[in-house]
Amino acid sequence: MLEIIKERKVRVEKSYWINFDCKDDRSCGFVFPANSDETPALDKMCEEAQMNYFACEASTNKFDRWFEEREHTIVEPAVGKCVCGCEVELDADYSWHGAIRCEKCGQWYNWFGQKLVDPKYWEDDDDYYNEDLTDGFMGITAGSINY
Ligand SMILES: [Zn+2]
Repeated sequence: MLEIIKERKVRVEKSYWINFDCKDDRSCGFVFPANSDETPALDKMCEEAQMNYFACEASTNKFDRWFEEREHTIVEPAVGKCVCGCEVELDADYSWHGAIRCEKCGQWYNWFGQKLVDPKYWEDDDDYYNEDLTDGFMGITAGSINY
């Protein structure tokens, strides 16, 4: 079992946008980054974007302007300390069929930090996973054995 040195964390961040919808065609328009006080975030725009922003502001007859606040849920994966001392992120996005491998020593873990045997010893339970495998694990299928 990995020693968890950093717990999984879920946080919410907000972003702000100024939208310009074309009055003639609602499927067209522009979106620019903004600050929470509804002012344009010019420091986040390149020169061309700034020019487009000011062109939109000057064309109120062509665009409907509206402010938008978006919420983003960000999951920071837990981090554990491998038996070799290396840090391993328990990140589902970088797992292989639910397993994460220490890059230094090659030890496999599940998302809970429990040690797994090498996937080459996993039992075959169907042929689905035999397709499109990467990292040189041809013929390995889902299923796991804890030890
Ligand atoms: Zn390791």
